[in-house]
Amino acid sequence: MDFSNDDGITRRMAVLQQRVQTMRDHDFYFYNQPVEEVLGGSKVIVNGREMGMYASYSYLGLVGHPRINAAAKAAVDKFGTGTHGVRTLAGSLTLHRELEETIADFKHAEDAITYTSGYATNLTVISTLMGRGDYVLSDKLNHASIVDGCMMSGAEFRRFKHNDMADLEKRLQQVPDGATRLVIADAVFSMDGDVIDLPSVVNLCRKYNAYLMMDEAHSVGVLGKTGRGIEEHFEMWDSVDIKMGTLSKTIPSVGGYVAGKKELIDFLRHGSRAYIFSAALPPAQAAAANEAFKVILDEPWRIDKLNANTKQFIGGLKGMGFDTMLTTTAIVPVLCGTDERAYALTQAAQRNDVFVLPVVSPAVPEGLSRLRATVLASHESSEIQRAMDIIGKAGKEIGII
Ligand SMILES: *Cc1c(COP(=O)(O)O)cnc(C)c1O
Repeated sequence: MDFSNDDGITRRMAVLQQRVQTMRDHDFYFYNQPVEEVLGGSKVIVNGREMGMYASYSYLGLVGHPRINAAAKAAVDKFGTGTHGVRTLAGSLTLHRELEETIADFKHAEDAITYTSGYATNLTVISTLMGRGDYVLSDKLNHASIVDGCMMSGAEFRRFKHNDMADLEKRLQQVPDGATRLVIADAVFSMDGDVIDLPSVVNLCRKYNAYLMMDEAHSVGVLGKTGRGIEEHFEMWDSVDIKMGTLSKTIPSVGGYVAGKKELIDFLRHGSRAYIFSAALPPAQAAAANEAFKVILDEPWRIDKLNANTKQFIGGLKGMGFDTMLTTTAIVPVLCGTDERAYALTQAAQRNDVFVLPVVSPAVPEGLSRLRATVLASHESSEIQRAMDIIGKAGKEIGII
């Protein structure tokens, strides 16, 4: 195949090539920059230069934690590097059950099930639970994996305005009597860093008899006094029916999970296709994840430090005149406006060894392009100040502030 035909695939590849080339010409191409080395929790080497890391999801700085590394190595020694295939055949290890019990305990749930990615978790869980004739109501800013899961399910897919409870209620009222309904939202929104209004969502779910699913990719380790997430943050235990999360962000591994009532987990274990038809988590990753949940509970100072760093970063950027939107968490959007301005600010930051990345349209609405900076528990206060000084100076030069 030489891709020279005048067909859809050829045309789409040409459009992409053109876009990438234009970005490269301006030195604005920040896609997939390889990290050569990870130094401690907050620094990386990229292109041979040591940079402060402000684009990581390892909010508590657990990547490379000695206890977690040791657990992963011990698992390799005991079980090897792979499983025997899917969980249902020979792929279930004691490690998997230990991890699922740890997660259930951490999330105050009866049981939990794990999958090999958060993306696969949303796809398979939503499409296993929901089907034709059902109604799923999803926040407009929900993660792509939720959107894909909803579409795959075949259910009626309705999106409500972002964190807008009047709009959610209106849409719940439109669901026909007797139809099964599920409300889904990110607990912390991955591009904006704001927190779902859980008390109001729970009220509406109870009033209209809807199940509630929360994606806790950015709230575990971030929200709540001990890092247990959205329910702890609002002190509303047992208010979320389907507690979904990933093992690839605060938890420095890979994989996804759902925690909840035993019947729910049993059902998913016997019916969800990503569990039945896709290999089990590798031993090292299962053991690393299991240990990470324990480290979070054993080292609560990390959450305090993350909270202090978040306050310093958001407060400092706002003080300089940046618009950080509605964030109150470690995800800090730095609004730039146009794509070009977001690229220019990224370029200036990276040239001064601050590793941040832009988010541009269509990932966010046009005119809302931004840096999507993150702050970590492993940052020192002086490092954060330096990063803010650099972003501030560049922001002035570019005309953002
Ligand atoms: C990252 C992310 C996922 C996907 O998780 P992976 O484990 O990376 O596949 C799902 N939902 C949200 C909100 C995320 O940010």
